[in-house]
Amino acid sequence: MTVFSVPDFDGHEHVSFGHDPETGLRAVIAIHNTNLGPAVGGCRMWSYADDEDALRDALRLSRGMTYKSALAGLPFGGGKSVIIGDAKTEKTPALMQAMGRFVESLGGRYIAAEDIGMKVSDMDEMAKVTKHVTGTSTTSGNPSPFTAYGVLRGIEAAVEHKLQRNDGLADIRIAIQGLGAVGFDLARRLHEKGAQLHVADINTEAVAKAADMFGATPVDTSKIHTADVDVFSPCALGAVINDDTVGKIQARIVAGSANNQLADDAHGAALAARGILYAPDYVINAGGIIEIAHGVDFGGNHDDVEIYAHLDQIHDTLAEIFQRADAESATTNVIADNMAEERFRIVA
Ligand code: NAD
Repeated sequence: MTVFSVPDFDGHEHVSFGHDPETGLRAVIAIHNTNLGPAVGGCRMWSYADDEDALRDALRLSRGMTYKSALAGLPFGGGKSVIIGDAKTEKTPALMQAMGRFVESLGGRYIAAEDIGMKVSDMDEMAKVTKHVTGTSTTSGNPSPFTAYGVLRGIEAAVEHKLQRNDGLADIRIAIQGLGAVGFDLARRLHEKGAQLHVADINTEAVAKAADMFGATPVDTSKIHTADVDVFSPCALGAVINDDTVGKIQARIVAGSANNQLADDAHGAALAARGILYAPDYVINAGGIIEIAHGVDFGGNHDDVEIYAHLDQIHDTLAEIFQRADAESATTNVIADNMAEERFRIVA
């Protein structure tokens, strides 16, 4: 396996491989860029197919964090760590402490947060051996409501821009794919704004609850992206905008919380060619990292007024991206990347 020539390598500042024979830890920490501050990003535990798969995930995800934090106006760089293994069967407190020692060995250049396969109790284990960890039981709470609020503000920006509606979301038709921690809270907030909801989830209980509480119309999970609505809001899986789905979307806006919604960048162009406005995922779903940035780990006091004021900037950043995309005849995903690079590619 090589590092510098794998497709996801993007001039990363630092890549470390950690191994602890006693606990069986095998992990990668990737730091993409620290021009704006320490690299903050989740620690993921996953049964990767092989070591290269794990490395590529760490490289790709850490790069994404640089762009996300830069556009969210945070003093953070981009980093991510991955632990190779099954979180359900192979995770132990000793393994998490070994991971904590690995994080500690980088002296604060990387700060770990929760990601797939991690719980607050795992962050607590890491915190026993390193202070470079956030999202412990004493420092922050559940980021999902903050992410949902950011997505709501992003949908409002998209509706204003694309549908020329400046009077709120009353009667705007929105299809939500995924009613999990973010999607359900988003549905609640949209319902309060008078939107008409169409919802799909493999969890039929969540669908029934949304129908009951918000008058949402249940839609088959295989059809939600084809719903005749104004906004399609992916809040479940990645790569939902792909060769198969892109031509079937009837909504004029795609705006949701899911990470990596475009199967690849060309699908951003395909959406634009069909006149569909895309709210770049890492801009609209930055509420979680914004909440973390206001926590005690970073000198804040988790003040709701300050956090919500910061989340409101997601609306303004997206409005700027939409305007620039129109003015430069470029796709919104490319404009977002350019704006992020303008912020983090500081010339020393
Ligand atoms: P979650 O696991 O709580 O919810 C995901 C939901 O999607 C579940 O209810 C699941 O049943 C449903 N789902 C799975 N497959 C589906 C399918 N084929 N069709 C319809 N629904 C399906 O996750 P979450 O925390 O709500 O996050 C949702 C998305 O937003 C993820 O992509 C996540 O990476 C992203 N995100 C979340 C946060 C956050 O603060 N939680 C922050 C940034 C990005």
